[in-house]
Amino acid sequence: MNTENNVCPSCSRRVINRRLPQCEFCGTDLPHDLLMSPQELEEADARARAKEREERQRRSAERAAREARRRRGGTLPGGGGFPI
Ligand SMILES: [Zn+2]
Repeated sequence: MNTENNVCPSCSRRVINRRLPQCEFCGTDLPHDLLMSPQELEEADARARAKEREERQRRSAERAAREARRRRGGTLPGGGGFPI
């Protein structure tokens, strides 16, 4: 019996993607306890989605800030400010 977790019972290779119901190497159906439970899957997906959303928000905020700065400063070369 394998002491290591997440190993295919047929080819003894590591199961890398526990979302797939079959072994990526030999195509054997993996036992359910090797796979992510639907709850685990959902949690992982939710985490990934949240991270992605956060990242996108951060990036668009950064872009907006940069854009605003450029618009404000861009029309005044040298940062001179008021026309005399
Ligand atoms: Zn296998």
